[in-house]
Amino acid sequence: MMPTDRYAVFGHPIRHSKSPRIHALFAEQTAQAMDYRAEDVPAANFRGAVRSFFSAGGKGLNCTVPLKELAWQIADFKSDRAQRARAVNTLAIREDARLFGDNTDGAGLLRDLTLNLNIELCGRRVLLLGAGGASRGVIEPLLDRQPKSLIIANRTPEKARQLASEFVDLGDIRGCGFGELEGERFDLILNATAASLSDELPPLPDDVLALNGCCYDLAYGNQPTAFVRWGIERRAAQSVDGIGMLVEQAAEAFFIWRGIRPATRPVIELLNAERRIKV
Ligand code: NDP
Repeated sequence: MMPTDRYAVFGHPIRHSKSPRIHALFAEQTAQAMDYRAEDVPAANFRGAVRSFFSAGGKGLNCTVPLKELAWQIADFKSDRAQRARAVNTLAIREDARLFGDNTDGAGLLRDLTLNLNIELCGRRVLLLGAGGASRGVIEPLLDRQPKSLIIANRTPEKARQLASEFVDLGDIRGCGFGELEGERFDLILNATAASLSDELPPLPDDVLALNGCCYDLAYGNQPTAFVRWGIERRAAQSVDGIGMLVEQAAEAFFIWRGIRPATRPVIELLNAERRIKV
């Protein structure tokens, strides 16, 4: 029998996480002996919890809200994409005991937007809400697709401006506060704030979504999030949550840990079917 390797996702809050279910499905699909759990780890306990996990033989971690920037600090070495994002969502222990940090959020989002949902980015006006760890991870791959412009709006405007300034070499990008969006129109609005976790909505101007524009909430739940409902009410061409991104970023992490790429479509379909049964 193969030994069972231990993995986990750390975050706070974490109760809503579907990552253990997704990795269990990937492990079953690819016949890997893995145990993957969700652990509630507030930022203040993060360093100690990471140390204990790996010294007890753990193989890999995912880090979610609000730990991605801390995970970036803790990693001994990082992928180029994580280095650029200054945020890490995947940690893996290497044979020499060094901790490798990567960021699979951007690849996961882009796969979902372009392959699963057929949303075009090239030449489009894109609005990204939020300037936390998730936003950091998706900016470079979004700009790679050459949108007309990428505006980052955040509750704390200074954070959005700072974040945008780190990527100005890659395209037309600027940061602002929500109040500065008045009169602007966007073809794609991505919600990367943590507002959905408490069923809240960032304060958006009513007409900020362009005709035939799309809304995408990186957060997800068993019910449509406040932002997904906002998009539906404004007749968005598509208004969806981040379950597809979650599965795609998990598949990237699984590849980093196990060297195998699981099929994502059947997992997305299964999770969506389970959600329909629950609603
Ligand atoms: P962080 O804690 O790093 O950042 C949170 C961001 O949300 C900050 O910009 C913060 O603004 C803003 N924010 C928090 N509460 C509110 C509110 N009530 N109104 C407006 N803005 C608010 O979190 P992450 O960036 O790691 O995660 C953000 C979201 O993305 C979460 O919902 C998470 O679940 C989701 N996510 C989904 C993924 C997926 O695979 N589907 C992957 C990664 C993240 P301020 O700077 O002013 O504090």
